[in-house]
Amino acid sequence: MKERVWIKDEGIERGAEKLTPERIEKTINQVLDNEAGSRLKAYVETCAHCGLCSEACHFYLSRDRDPRFSPVGKVKQTIWEMLDKKGKVSTEFMKQAVQVAQTECNMCRRCVQYCPFGIDIAYMMSLVRRISHKLEITPLYIQDTAHSHSATMNQMWVKDDEWIDALHWQEDEMREELPNARIPLEKEGAEIMYSVIGPEPKFRTQLIYQAAAIMNEAGMDWTMPATPGWDNSDMAMYTGDSEMMGRLKRLHFETAARLRVKKIVMGECGHAFRSVYDTGNRVLGWRMPPIPVVHALEFYWDLLNEGKIKVAKLFEEPVTFHDPCNVVRGRGLHEKAREVVRAFCPNFIEMTPNREHNYCCAAGGGVINCGPPFKNSRVESNRVKAEQLQATGVKVCIAPCHNCHGGLEDIIHKYKLDMQLKFLGEIIYDCMEKPNAV
Ligand code: SF4
Ligand code: SF4
Ligand code: SF4
Repeated sequence: MKERVWIKDEGIERGAEKLTPERIEKTINQVLDNEAGSRLKAYVETCAHCGLCSEACHFYLSRDRDPRFSPVGKVKQTIWEMLDKKGKVSTEFMKQAVQVAQTECNMCRRCVQYCPFGIDIAYMMSLVRRISHKLEITPLYIQDTAHSHSATMNQMWVKDDEWIDALHWQEDEMREELPNARIPLEKEGAEIMYSVIGPEPKFRTQLIYQAAAIMNEAGMDWTMPATPGWDNSDMAMYTGDSEMMGRLKRLHFETAARLRVKKIVMGECGHAFRSVYDTGNRVLGWRMPPIPVVHALEFYWDLLNEGKIKVAKLFEEPVTFHDPCNVVRGRGLHEKAREVVRAFCPNFIEMTPNREHNYCCAAGGGVINCGPPFKNSRVESNRVKAEQLQATGVKVCIAPCHNCHGGLEDIIHKYKLDMQLKFLGEIIYDCMEKPNAV
């Protein structure tokens, strides 16, 4: 077996300098005793070490079936050792455990489906991340993102006036094509609040334009907030900072409540959707989100089926579709997504495997947000995704998730694939009827 390479990360190294054996032991036991409960106990006592989950994990498959990258191998290198030693583990062990849990698991939950007992490895990795957060040994880049959330309530240090400015700019651009279209800000009582993730006003502003054009041409009664609470993303969920995650999700819902909207429609992002429909509301103690939340995929499906958007021209080039874990394994939106794709793209080729069996892009679970130190390891760990994309033989892949775009772009570059990525909204915007366009 090749020698294991441990990557040096400034955040982990600096935090580790302040660790003591007592602090490590106390923190581990505090989390495992008080926050984990019977679920962890059941998983640990049930696992038969059969290894059936290994073949499900893209890290394991891409790293030549090295058992250290198998789901259960990750558990052995982290939480089982902590339990076995009752928290008496070294600083060096903790540094390695963070790397495994934070950068070698996308929390994509593919392996859960292949375990005969439904053991959720991602949950166990989230406990290790929680311990790392409390020990302040989180990788530097993702911690910086979590700091941005706590200082600005958005992921990208977008200032309040910068946010408004980005919306005005996109509205101006849109009005050249659709002169009467608006991006309505702070419209109380609108039916829909549209929320996006922090990178949209920073790097992918055209997505705001496209979504706004779709809303306007479909005749929606919608609004966007002018205040913090507009960003639905949540890297705190992935650093184990549950307190910050709660603050973010509460503000998002409070903003929608203040605007008295009937539902929140979220842009094309997977992790943000998971944080809003699943993790965040449970951290806040809510069984269900207080205001219905709809992912863009489902929203587009509704618009199409209600005849609010119509196909003007077909996207003839062959396309494939990447099922993001958090909206497909997590929420079952795969058939609705396909109906929309097929309506616009007659030459649709499935990648194999697909739907809930699709491989993750390797960006998810905050792994891409751990930044440059871990980039090579991340792309090397998803050779199977490159092979899966290449086998389709097509040059366009639709991926309705920001993180997936980031992860897939890196894989396309590394493995020299001749492929471009698109969001679903981009195809709809290009191909739908625009009766109000000049
Ligand atoms: S959750 Fe995904 S990345 Fe993590 S061990 Fe399971 S299959 Fe691998
Ligand atoms: S997690 Fe499930 S599939 Fe994996 S080794 Fe344990 S029992 Fe087997
Ligand atoms: S980034 Fe995309 S493919 Fe990867 S875990 Fe998230 S949703 Fe899944």
